[in-house]
Amino acid sequence: MAETPSDLSFADAADGVIAMAHYAGAHGLVPATSGNFSVRMNATHAAVTATGANKAALTRGEVIEAEIDGERHPRASAEGPLHLVRYAHAPDIGAISHVHSLAGTVLSRRHEAEGVLRLEGWELLKAFSGIRTHETVLDVPIVANDQDTDRLAMLVERRLRESTPAFGYLIAGHGLYVWGATYKDVLRHMEAFEFLLNAQLMEEGRP
Ligand SMILES: [Zn+2]
Repeated sequence: MAETPSDLSFADAADGVIAMAHYAGAHGLVPATSGNFSVRMNATHAAVTATGANKAALTRGEVIEAEIDGERHPRASAEGPLHLVRYAHAPDIGAISHVHSLAGTVLSRRHEAEGVLRLEGWELLKAFSGIRTHETVLDVPIVANDQDTDRLAMLVERRLRESTPAFGYLIAGHGLYVWGATYKDVLRHMEAFEFLLNAQLMEEGRP
């Protein structure tokens, strides 16, 4: 496992959050103020988007400093626990994005009963850190949606213990979580997932 990324100031972490949010907003991945983004500052804190912000136009005032293992911040999004519990369980994760990608949302319902979406043989799998050949099978876990995000976060951690490697997971009928060591890795992983999910949807032949 990689080392914990080095400490970041709140300002630097917030800039990473804004870069991911603007990317997702510009690519139509966070419709109607959905989605959220975070960058780890250190072992105990992360910069996270506040609830309700328009991610395409996110500003530093809409990013909050959240305790990874503490009380919920008053401006935290309901989906905050899904970021913070990931940081608590995986010290090598430095940034996380959550998007409501159209292709991912459709595929997550189609494959919910299987519990995974299998991505296999695509050249762009090499965009994920550590994957060196298209001859790769990436099983993206799919979990059922749940409005109780504390309970959902625990379910996700149980599922992820069984799935390696995992660069993200789908929530059925809802969206995609993606992570990486730095926000720049997450930008690349988001872009790769979006391409691969669209390719998969087209290949399955039912738009
Ligand atoms: Zn969501």
